[in-house]
Amino acid sequence: MPLYEFACEVCGARDEVFRQRMTSNIEPPPCPTAPDDPEHAMSRVMSGFAHHLSFATKVAEAEATYGAEVDAAMGPEPDIGKFARRYDEAAKDLPPGE
Ligand SMILES: [Zn+2]
Repeated sequence: MPLYEFACEVCGARDEVFRQRMTSNIEPPPCPTAPDDPEHAMSRVMSGFAHHLSFATKVAEAEATYGAEVDAAMGPEPDIGKFARRYDEAAKDLPPGE
């Protein structure tokens, strides 16, 4: 069963959401520490199982970290090769997954 992890952008509190099946449209849960405060927006966190991720998921993960750069690389005429090389380069600096 897919598990989706979210983290609050304000206080860093985490929560997890289970779904019966894979979906790209997951409603973020409210922040556990401030559920009524709209400032505490929850955003998707990718788990550390990088070697199990599909390329599409890696793209989404990298996009969250290197948004503008990915947009430039993926542009109107996506240059996947350029992006993949850049991703490998960036990934070398990342600590091992949790
Ligand atoms: Zn919060």
